[in-house]
Amino acid sequence: MQIPQAPVANLCVDLHAHTTASDGALSPQELVERAAVRGVTHLAVTDHDTTAGVAAAQEAAQQTGLRVIPGVEVSTLWQGREIHLVGLGLRGHPVLEQGLAYQQAQRWERAETIVTRLARNGVAGAEAVIDQRGADAPGRSHFAEWLVAQGAVRDRQQAFKRYLGRQGRAWVRPGWVSLETAVRWVHVAGGRAVLAHPYAYGMTGAWLRRLCEAFAGAGGEAIEVVTGRTTPTQVRDALGLSLRHGLAASCGSDFHAPGTGLEPGHLAPLPVSARPVWDHAPELLAPDGP
Ligand code: MN
Ligand code: MN
Ligand code: MN
Repeated sequence: MQIPQAPVANLCVDLHAHTTASDGALSPQELVERAAVRGVTHLAVTDHDTTAGVAAAQEAAQQTGLRVIPGVEVSTLWQGREIHLVGLGLRGHPVLEQGLAYQQAQRWERAETIVTRLARNGVAGAEAVIDQRGADAPGRSHFAEWLVAQGAVRDRQQAFKRYLGRQGRAWVRPGWVSLETAVRWVHVAGGRAVLAHPYAYGMTGAWLRRLCEAFAGAGGEAIEVVTGRTTPTQVRDALGLSLRHGLAASCGSDFHAPGTGLEPGHLAPLPVSARPVWDHAPELLAPDGP
């Protein structure tokens, strides 16, 4: 007689998603509901420079079979470029909290400067964006939405091109923490550091290899091999980077809002030769959490 096997857990892992705590359109509860309905089993809530959405997401997840992994997406600077680092499996720690408070202060300061520069360039009233945000720091996409709503620009793309992007009239050089320091914050808080969306930086292959080398050298553990927007070629190339630099493979949709073509959990599978970050760090998927 055959011994019945325990059912193999049908994993659906999404390790990168946003809520209204940063520039996502859904509240933590709404995000969890949307992910649960789509069969996601493990969802990392990774808002920009804040963990403010995590507790509400975890609470909402208690009504579902889904597990929330506490995370964050830290904006960093490396060689003068803005690089995003996803921290996964975080426990609270004063060093991380102070670090994120510093990043939030940078965000508030940037928002004030954007308001001033927009006004100087004939777009008055952008302080409304700051007022609407309450306690959560405004990001550039909030200004982009406001510019579109005001009719100052045609769409989000034009908002970045004309005002908010690197060549725009209201561009503010960010004062983010270094990549190496952000890795340290994540580690001190018991988390794992993941290099986010390697193909979103517009880097050449040589620069990407340099970045991965620096990231691995700083102790970073993984790289996003699959995101909601990666092409099959990019997945193949990112797998190459992960193998070459000894980084585990992560996958995350980077979901921000319904109607964008992305959905929580809507991801291509990791390539079979990839080493998933949850194999490297099994505590991420453990039932009682990291
Ligand atoms: Mn975002
Ligand atoms: Mn990002
Ligand atoms: Mn993101």
